[in-house]
Amino acid sequence: MDIIFEQVEHIYHANSPFAQRALYDVDLSIASGTYVAIIGHTGSGKSTLLQHLNGLLQPTNGTVMIGEHTITKAIKPKQLKPLRRKVGIVFQFPEHQLFEETVEKDVCFGPLNFGVPEEEAKKKAKEALSLVGLPEEVLNQSPFDLSGGQMRRVAIAGILAMEPDVIVLDEPTAGLDPRGRKEMMEMFARLHREKKLTTILVTHSMEDAAKYADHLIVMHKGTVWKTGTPQQIFHDPDALLQLGLDVPETVLLKRKLEEKIGREIPSPCLTIDQ
Ligand code: ADP
Repeated sequence: MDIIFEQVEHIYHANSPFAQRALYDVDLSIASGTYVAIIGHTGSGKSTLLQHLNGLLQPTNGTVMIGEHTITKAIKPKQLKPLRRKVGIVFQFPEHQLFEETVEKDVCFGPLNFGVPEEEAKKKAKEALSLVGLPEEVLNQSPFDLSGGQMRRVAIAGILAMEPDVIVLDEPTAGLDPRGRKEMMEMFARLHREKKLTTILVTHSMEDAAKYADHLIVMHKGTVWKTGTPQQIFHDPDALLQLGLDVPETVLLKRKLEEKIGREIPSPCLTIDQ
C-alpha cells in the first residue's frame, strides 16, 4: 500500500480558544515495502503524523491516501475501521496495553475483533508469536508473568496477528537495554525483509535511523523539513545540529577525518554496528 499525504494540516481543538496547529503543508509519499524513519525534535509533529496513518486522527485539511483508502476531514470514523487492520501502530510501551488472562487471548483479541473465526485467530496468534521469537509455551501463560521484553513482544504479536501491510513503530525500543534494543531492531528488520512489511519508524536514535531505514523524513515545527536517503540527510550534519537533532557518531567522525585530510570522503554507506 503506497502512502501519500497531500497538503495535510492538523489542528488540535480547532475552532476553539485552545486551537493548536500540529501539522501543516505536509506532503509526502512512502512507497509500499520501504523502511522509512521519521525523525525530528520533540513537538515537531511526528506523533500527530503517525496517528493519521490509520485514521486515529483525521486531517483538518488536506488528504491522506493509504492504498485504496482516502482520508479527509469529511470521512466518518467508522469507515476507517478496515484501515486499522492494514496499518498496525506499535505505540510506545505497547506492553501497557496487555490486559487478557493469557498470552493467547491477548494476541487473538485483534483478529477476533475484526471477525476472524476463533480457530483461525488462534492459528494466527501462534504464527505471530513465532514471528516475534517467542516459544509456543507462552500461549497459556499470563502476559504479566513474562519479562518486560517478552511482554513487549506479545503486544507486537497482537498487531502482527492482524496481518497488516504497514507497521508503524513509535520509539519501539524505549526503556530497553542496549542488547534488548538491538534484538528488537533486528526483529523489525527481519519482519520488513521477510514479510515485505512497509515499516515506518519514529525514533530519536539517529544510529537506528541510519542503519535500518532506506529513507528518512525529517520533521521540523509541524512540517516536513527534508526527505532523502540517510546519506543525503546526514550529508549536512550542521543543518541537523541546528535543528537540535543528533547525528550519528560515524558522520561526525567522517567529518573530522575530512577536515584533517582536506578532502571529502565518499560515503558508500552509513551502516553502524554497535
Ligand atoms: P512529536 O511527536 O514530534 O513530539 P507531537 O505530534 O506530539 O510531536 O506534537 C506536535 C504539536 O502538537 C506540539 O506542539 C504538541 O504540543 C501539540 N499536541 C500534541 N498532542 C496534542 C493534543 N492532544 N492536544 C493539543 N495539542 C497537542
